[in-house]
Amino acid sequence: MVKSRQAIAKGLGPRYGSTLRKKWAEVVSAARASYVCDRCGAKSVRRVSVGVWQCRRCGYKFAGQAYAPKAER
Ligand SMILES: [Zn+2]
Repeated sequence: MVKSRQAIAKGLGPRYGSTLRKKWAEVVSAARASYVCDRCGAKSVRRVSVGVWQCRRCGYKFAGQAYAPKAER
């Protein structure tokens, strides 16, 4: 299930202020999204742990950024 950004921001409760919660939701939704695999081209790269990404199709595991597999475009 893909949570909306608002739903993610709710996980923080009333803390940290609305601007920071929005940023947080941005980062978390980017971290939970699927990305295109460099090796097989399938859109099935998911974050395994902080900075660790793995393709569910070919099993390709690599180190990327903490919240995204590559630097932002
Ligand atoms: Zn792959």
